[in-house]
Amino acid sequence: MKMPPFKLHSPTTVDEAIEIAQEIQSKEEDFDWISGGTDLIPNYKWHLNPKKNVISLANISQLTELTETNIGAMVRLQDLVDSEFTHPVLAKSASSIASIMIRRSGTVGGNICLDTRCYWYNQTEEWRETIDWCHKCDCGTGADCRVIPNQNTLCVATYQADLAPVLMCMKAKVHLISTSGKREMELSDFFELDGMKKNKLLPGELLTHITIPKDISDWSGDYQKLRQRESWDFPEAGVAVLWKKKNGKLEKLRIATTGLESIPGYHEDLAMELVENWDGERSVKLLSEKIRKAVKPVPNTWYTPSYRRKMVKVLTKRACKELMSE
Ligand SMILES: Cc1cc2nc3c(=O)[nH]c(=O)nc-3n(C[C@H](O)[C@H](O)[C@H](O)COP(=O)(O)OP(=O)(O)OC[C@H]3O[C@@H](n4cnc5c(N)ncnc54)[C@H](O)[C@@H]3O)c2cc1C
Ligand code: SF4
Repeated sequence: MKMPPFKLHSPTTVDEAIEIAQEIQSKEEDFDWISGGTDLIPNYKWHLNPKKNVISLANISQLTELTETNIGAMVRLQDLVDSEFTHPVLAKSASSIASIMIRRSGTVGGNICLDTRCYWYNQTEEWRETIDWCHKCDCGTGADCRVIPNQNTLCVATYQADLAPVLMCMKAKVHLISTSGKREMELSDFFELDGMKKNKLLPGELLTHITIPKDISDWSGDYQKLRQRESWDFPEAGVAVLWKKKNGKLEKLRIATTGLESIPGYHEDLAMELVENWDGERSVKLLSEKIRKAVKPVPNTWYTPSYRRKMVKVLTKRACKELMSE
């Protein structure tokens, strides 16, 4: 597991980072951003699409701001867990990520932009050679996808990060910057249904921070996660639910999922259909069945798709426990 050679760049401001990115691109070379490196470094050691250049965000203090409504891309996951500003449901999902050591290095930006994962891909180079590679890292062989063969255009690797579903329910926005300027979009519009492209970041574009609407303290909810080992595993399925009440009556309900497809799923429409005639346990059962039907996992993580879909129903019921008696 030898680290492939790369040139490390360490800018101290966002402007400098963007300039370096532009310089590298003008030489027709490629690069990766690195924040905590807890995912990128293991991937490089396994020779999963390493680049010639790596631009570190570690020295950019501008990216570490943390308030109730603003989360810098370089905020460490454990700082998010510990902060008085963090909404309890976001803190719960952050505290379920990996282990405390990984959370002390891993960042919010790295978690949102996490590479998609697949049983046939997240393996050593030697292991992947024995199966003649796969489309996502084909080493120039034109190898096919091992999950959906005979198409060789689409990768269906799974998005397995925990923060996104909660932030989607919060209607959080991601803020991006590149040489073309700044832009922002709702997190639910950020992801792209392609396990290789993953999201809407343009070449050389950087995620700087996330903003959360001001009314977030009016919302309650829960995050529930299925994983192999409680100690540190990625979500095999994750369900976030947020609700808002008016005069004690359920007014708004949002639900999102992770670990089930190449992008996290946002299912607000399915939840809102039930809100007007909300009927406690009966409505929770209906909602959990709707979510089970909406998700389409493929066989590329540890648990089977059918088990993960069954568990999505269970996780939804658990996350809606407080709404059972409404
Ligand atoms: C054993 C183990 C268990 C784990 N368990 C979990 C888990 O349970 N849940 C979970 O969600 N994750 C898990 N992870 C994955 C990872 O640790 C976290 O997702 C972490 O938040 C990644 O953040 P990072 O800063 O280390 O990202 P990095 O590894 O530095 O980067 C990840 C990706 O994001 C890109 N990137 C980083 N920052 C930016 C930015 N600001 N703008 C644009 N692109 C950027 C990088 O180029 C790279 O492609 C686990 C990892 C390990 C090793
Ligand atoms: S989904 Fe297919 S192409 Fe993508 S990583 Fe898995 S085997 Fe490779």
